Amino acid sequence: MRTDDGQPISRLTASQKPLILSKIAGVRCPNCSALQPIYHMDRTNPHRGWNRFSAHECSSCKNWLYFDGKGRYRRFFLIVAPLFFLSAGLGAEVVTHIDGLHHLHESSGSEEGNFLGFLVTVFLFIIPTVFFTSRFESVQTLEKNGQI
Ligand SMILES: [Zn+2]
Repeated sequence: MRTDDGQPISRLTASQKPLILSKIAGVRCPNCSALQPIYHMDRTNPHRGWNRFSAHECSSCKNWLYFDGKGRYRRFFLIVAPLFFLSAGLGAEVVTHIDGLHHLHESSGSEEGNFLGFLVTVFLFIIPTVFFTSRFESVQTLEKNGQI
């Protein structure tokens, strides 16, 4: 069990709501299952070396939440990396069938995505998929030690 290591606790004001990428990431408070902002929760990762928060305060139940990073390598190799390549391949395949997003690669004789197709692949396929894998993160509640 980690204790508060002196880094600041992040909070949202009442008017700030989790946005689209947080909805895709789907990280929820284990105590009240409120949706948490993925940008703040990512900064509680214990393996993050800079600009890190000890925890993020759930705006609903006020518990302090953090990613404990357990199973991090297993999750990367079994879930994140395969889904990354799958989404990249799927995106590359889809853009070759949409006019304006591909061109003929003459030496290989096959269609491949152009720069716009690359952007579509990254922003519509890869990034949502990688954020989606945050659902497999382990969320823990930090014991409050009296300091804020
Ligand atoms: Zn909560």
